[in-house]
Amino acid sequence: MRGAVLHAPGDIRVEDRDDPTIEQPTDAIIRLSASCVCGSDLWPYRGIEDVTGPTPMGHEYVGIVEEVGSAVTTIKPGQFVIGSFFASDNTCEICRAGYQSACIHREYVGAGGAQAELLRVPLADGTLVATPGPASDELVPSLLAASDVLGTGWFGAVAAEVGPGKTVAVVGDGAVGLLAVLAAKELGAERIFAMSRYESRQQLALAYGATDVIAERGADGVAMIKELTDGLGADSVIEAVGTQDSMMQAIRSTRPGGHVGYVGVAHGVTLPGEELFYSHAHLHGGPAPVRRFLPDLIKRITSGSIDPGKVFDLTLPLEDAAEGYRAMDERRAIKTLLRP
Ligand SMILES: [Zn+2]
Repeated sequence: MRGAVLHAPGDIRVEDRDDPTIEQPTDAIIRLSASCVCGSDLWPYRGIEDVTGPTPMGHEYVGIVEEVGSAVTTIKPGQFVIGSFFASDNTCEICRAGYQSACIHREYVGAGGAQAELLRVPLADGTLVATPGPASDELVPSLLAASDVLGTGWFGAVAAEVGPGKTVAVVGDGAVGLLAVLAAKELGAERIFAMSRYESRQQLALAYGATDVIAERGADGVAMIKELTDGLGADSVIEAVGTQDSMMQAIRSTRPGGHVGYVGVAHGVTLPGEELFYSHAHLHGGPAPVRRFLPDLIKRITSGSIDPGKVFDLTLPLEDAAEGYRAMDERRAIKTLLRP
């Protein structure tokens, strides 16, 4: 099969790779209908995360089940399925509490590289969710978004305790931040501040339900949120970047007693204990337990009530994955969809 491999920072190649096979009786092999490039793929691509050798890339996936292991009982060949970047048994105590991304048996699905034609998914019964019927071509981008960026933005909103009447700020205007805006709207937020300096992203944030766009960042961004909330700060703040600046901007934009949902993969973030102590902010986040939300998100997508696939503003054949990375790195694209 063909698959994208990162050889060194900036060096993505689509090459021949071995077809994945059933390794454990609980595995499934799926033929990917689409995959995509994640903002978190840009960390190693930019050399901010080490690249230790040729690495198969991609951890977002939708497709049709091709084969299942002998112990798989609910997932069947021919089903259209979606799963998250962490495989989970969905039965352990941690899974049952809704934290499937910390399952005691979790495995990183992305190790197999989802920017490819085929993918091995461990713990298929616990990990994969089948759509009610075959997925139409128009729904594929939205269902693919549910695999990570929508589920992650949704978790950010839930972790930030977004709800009816709440004032919400979203730090980060990548796909996760934009879909956190959508999640906040769906969960009933009254006012949603999207923090972005880019015109196309501001427009999508407004389409997804943002009531205000704030172009200022850092201390100026915090000051603007305070100004718009009678000096108090937002009830709920979603952090969708993962840097020291964005995390501090999120904490300082939160009112005392408010909640920060942090879903940007943290890189070099150190929190000042004393400032945190006096902030009275709740912090909750981490790798999103996307699996918890998949059944609900699939229903909202197939019924047409949400359209998260709009975050894909560039579609390329898998063979052109390198251009897909470049376009996101240079901010010419919000998110690239790859068609095998
Ligand atoms: Zn589990």
